Parts: sequence; structure tokens; C-alpha cells
Amino acid sequence: MATIFTKIINREIPATIVFENDKVLAFKDINPQAPIHILVVPKKEIPTINDLKEEDRELIGEIYLAIGKIAKDLGIADQGYRVISNCNEYGGQEVFHIHFHLLGGKKLETKIV
Ligand code: AMP
Repeated sequence: MATIFTKIINREIPATIVFENDKVLAFKDINPQAPIHILVVPKKEIPTINDLKEEDRELIGEIYLAIGKIAKDLGIADQGYRVISNCNEYGGQEVFHIHFHLLGGKKLETKIV
């Protein structure tokens, strides 16, 4: 089912886009948890990590390549940053279109959560 992220991908609702190619879109999180908080999403609708298929193998590589490029472009690559992907209820997932939170711009307090 289409989520708010599909609407952002289709430019039906606004977002501050920081990266785009044919497979991946990245935009600022509306409720940032760090000075830099970017959501990196595949354009393909995949609800959760549990729904990934063999055919998505390359797509996940594309996402991580995009994350590295965005981190460099935003000047946080050397200092470091964190990438988080939440899955389903216990993981705290709210939007059911897989996405990767890129968090940085300060020293993050905890290691895991
Ligand atoms: P998650 O809890 O991992 O599913 O993360 C969903 C994220 O989407 C949250 O950090 C929200 O702040 C963010 N979010 C929800 N709606 C929007 C929106 N319209 N534009 C940007 N970020 C959004």
C-alpha cells in the first residue's frame, strides 16, 4: 500500500530532497532527532525489511552507496554518523515503506538506541 513516502517520491507532497537517482530518494526527516537527519528510501515500494527479495539485493547496495555520498556532501562522513532502519512494531516502524535514517552532525549519545 502506498505511504506518505510514495507521495514524496511522486512530488504529491513537499519534502526537502537532498539526493535522487533513478532508484533512491533522500530527504530531510520532518521531525529531526539530530542536527542532520535524512531519510533514504528506495523508490520501489517495499513495506518492511521482511519483504525484501533476492531481486532487491542490488537496491540495498544502491541505498548504502547513496548514504555514503550524502554523508560526504553534507560534510559528516569523516566525523561519522549512524544509519538506522526500523522494522515493524517492536522496531518502532511507523511508515511502512523501508527507509534508512541517516543521523549525524553531533556525537550521538547511545550506541544502540
Ligand atoms: P520510522 O519510525 O522508522 O518508520 O520513521 C518514520 C520517519 O518518517 C519519522 O522519523 C518521521 O519523522 C518521518 N516522517 C513522517 N512523515 C514525514 C514527512 N512528510 N516528511 C519527512 N519525514 C517524515
